[in-house]
Amino acid sequence: MKKPYNDYNSYLKRTHGTKVYKIGLDAGFSCPNRDGTVGLDGCIYCNDRGSRSSYTDPVKSIAEQLSSRIDYLKNNFGAEKFIAYFQAFTNTHAPVRKLKSIYDNVLPFDDIVGISIGTRPDCVDDEKMDLIGSNIFIQGPL
Ligand code: SF4
Repeated sequence: MKKPYNDYNSYLKRTHGTKVYKIGLDAGFSCPNRDGTVGLDGCIYCNDRGSRSSYTDPVKSIAEQLSSRIDYLKNNFGAEKFIAYFQAFTNTHAPVRKLKSIYDNVLPFDDIVGISIGTRPDCVDDEKMDLIGSNIFIQGPL
């Protein structure tokens, strides 16, 4: 039955010709509700891993996290395309230059068709929006 709305999963499948799998990442961020910027205790619904997926391992580099999860999804589900999901904690809670160096880790992976960034409104300013919105992180150094 045709859905009465344009869901994102179907949109990605139409656009890329296959189901697109999201890969959660822990890039080592903290969050203003935990590091003292705003508070120390965190939100009541957030766990001490910043609500990251159980398979993520912050001891591994971002490239290692991506490689191991891509291998797992390819081998077990026949996955072909992926979205890198910066998931744990607040993923814009750093200077823009550092954000660029973190997000750029995705670029060598040809099968990754997009990135998703978990954050909060008070951690996104115009400079960070420019980085994300204009894709300057794939157009060379700042
Ligand atoms: S990472 Fe997000 S949900 Fe968790 S404590 Fe920080 S602001 Fe709250």
